[in-house]
Amino acid sequence: MVNTIGVLALQGDFTRHREMLVSLGCRARAVRYVSDLEDLAGLVIPGGESTTISKQLDRSHLREAVSSFARERPVMGTCAGLILMAREPSDNRVKSLNLLDVAITRNSWGRQVHSFTTPVKVQLNGRHDTVPAVFIRAPRIHEVGPEVEVLARIEDEPVLVRQFPHMGIAFHPELTNDTSIHRLFLEALPS
Ligand code: GLN
Repeated sequence: MVNTIGVLALQGDFTRHREMLVSLGCRARAVRYVSDLEDLAGLVIPGGESTTISKQLDRSHLREAVSSFARERPVMGTCAGLILMAREPSDNRVKSLNLLDVAITRNSWGRQVHSFTTPVKVQLNGRHDTVPAVFIRAPRIHEVGPEVEVLARIEDEPVLVRQFPHMGIAFHPELTNDTSIHRLFLEALPS
């Protein structure tokens, strides 16, 4: 059976995620309305501007719907998506979906607040691989709860976390040709 994965398309970088999911043999659906969540196997919350996406979640009535979706199916957030999923997004303009027990600070990865690309070693269900990581005004994860696995770090800072089945990524895996992180997410789908 071909899985259909949703990509929240309220604002931000959703097109590249859809392309990557399709390249991995999934169907990908842009999610703008509550009805778009129907029959999805998983959901991606893309990068963009977390304060804007947070407002749009309320306007579109998707906030409640995404929260209840996440009780049964996996969600992966990249960059702004991670901020929205974090228990503590550290900015009162961002209302959290509270899917990951992490505290983050917006726009503050390491000493570099601007964009850069760097190789990062990732734990991929028992395998290890080095993937290129594109950081764009990325959030820093500075607190990780006991249920959260850190699957990649840079300079000791977590940049990829999983609280099974959900994943949060400080960088943008959809902006390279490396599909490892999307494949890892697809491995969490119920079979
Ligand atoms: N700085 C953005 C925010 O806080 C996130 C950046 C991104 O998604 N590339 O929402």
